Amino acid sequence: MTDSNYHGSCLCGSVRVKLPRDGAMSAICHCTHCQKQTGSAYSTVLMAPAADVEVEGQLATFNDANDQGQPVQRIFCPRCGSPIETASAASAATGFRLIKSGLLDGGAPAPQIQIFCDSALDWPFSLQDVPRFARMPTG
Ligand SMILES: [Zn+2]
Repeated sequence: MTDSNYHGSCLCGSVRVKLPRDGAMSAICHCTHCQKQTGSAYSTVLMAPAADVEVEGQLATFNDANDQGQPVQRIFCPRCGSPIETASAASAATGFRLIKSGLLDGGAPAPQIQIFCDSALDWPFSLQDVPRFARMPTG
């Protein structure tokens, strides 16, 4: 039986998250702030109905701004630094919370949409032709 919720944690386990599977949308965000905050090419997020999202544990906030200059809170674990949530008045008004889907045990669900593609890296859309190694290559 499939759990009706996704469960996950930060790298050190101090912060736990729970999100409903129903009504959640998986997205990739290519905005430059997500690239810097995650130290990665893009961010993977799950947009889930706010009423059923739970985030437990001590959190820290970096006060950021979006491309309109509106405040955005980038919430992370102060112990291990894992990004947890991106919050703003605009996202709160939608009734959804944005949680980093790489936190989820069992892995992030496949993306359904991509946003901020204006700043997406000029990468091949498919990674099928990029050489793959089971682990870090040696020699
Ligand atoms: Zn942590």
